[in-house]
Amino acid sequence: MVDVTNRDRIHALADRIMAGGSVDRDEALWMFHLESQADITDLMSAANRLREHFKGNKIHLCSIVNAKAGGCSENCKFCSQSAAYTTESPRYGFIDPEPVSEASKEAEQNNVTAVGLVAAWKGLREGPVLDEVCDRIREMAADGKVRPDASLGLIDSQQVADRLKDAGLACYGHNLESSRRFFPEHCTTHTFEDRLQTIKYLKNAGIKICSGGIIGMGETREDRCDMAMQLREIGASVVPVNFLNPIEGTPYETMKPLAPMEILKTIACFRFILPQQEIMVAGGRTVNLRDLQSMVFMAGASALMVGNYLTTLNQPAEQDLQMLKDLGLDPDWEPHEDMESDGCGSNDACGCASKEEPVTA
Ligand code: SF4
Repeated sequence: MVDVTNRDRIHALADRIMAGGSVDRDEALWMFHLESQADITDLMSAANRLREHFKGNKIHLCSIVNAKAGGCSENCKFCSQSAAYTTESPRYGFIDPEPVSEASKEAEQNNVTAVGLVAAWKGLREGPVLDEVCDRIREMAADGKVRPDASLGLIDSQQVADRLKDAGLACYGHNLESSRRFFPEHCTTHTFEDRLQTIKYLKNAGIKICSGGIIGMGETREDRCDMAMQLREIGASVVPVNFLNPIEGTPYETMKPLAPMEILKTIACFRFILPQQEIMVAGGRTVNLRDLQSMVFMAGASALMVGNYLTTLNQPAEQDLQMLKDLGLDPDWEPHEDMESDGCGSNDACGCASKEEPVTA
């Protein structure tokens, strides 16, 4: 009988995916539980093959603009913008056209395809705030520098999603954040089901979904695996993977960071589960990965959030562009085949929202 090594098994799974197949939960979980440096390196190597097979050498770049900061009614334990915690996060109301126009200009200069308007409030409903949001989206679309995307929290009706679509929105960022099982551990003011319902409205409206989550909040590997399987089920086009950056004043301020190799392994597992999606490395990259940042692409990531996050700093965009060049990768500012106007209004550990007048989810 021939012994099947872990390396053989990993590459056999990758071959199956390249031939049009997929991995099931047990197979995915087996990968999440790989421990040795040699196995993780083999997994990354196979994930890199999958990235090259499905994405070539193009790396999709997104950036975000904090369209309404702080004072959020929700209690997400990772978030410095929740009104439930005392943090140094700035607070301001929904922004005027000028800062959005500036952000679009800067993004265009950095070869960034899409800029997402992100707001710290619970969600959107019919009313003057939605009118303003639609105005900003129309202005960005008319400006033509970047594609307008958004991440504006829960949506309470089909009508709201339809209005966003009519205003010109292509892609909406709405993270699941974690698995269904783990979600109540980090948020009790709205539910995992509320998030799934918002995604349904958006999909019905014909808006592409940017949805991922945060790792390093104390969840298990099973939770990470289940979140990725759920993202596959909802048909997310872009999957932002954030790494907890513990912020002083939040309940997670003393959370122990994950080992960089555990993070890279998680990215590789996501590539196996979501082979055709944009796996986007988002918030917490610099602080958690440090010198290993560039390895995210060798672990299967195909997209990067550039520029500053919502409330924390990133390395300068020029440095990211140089990193891609050094790796022989190209920023991809062309629309993807599977996303006529792809991109995402992704988030900094957030897909969220809550405003002064919170919506009832
Ligand atoms: S809904 Fe968004 S802004 Fe509000 S606390 Fe949660 S993550 Fe933060």
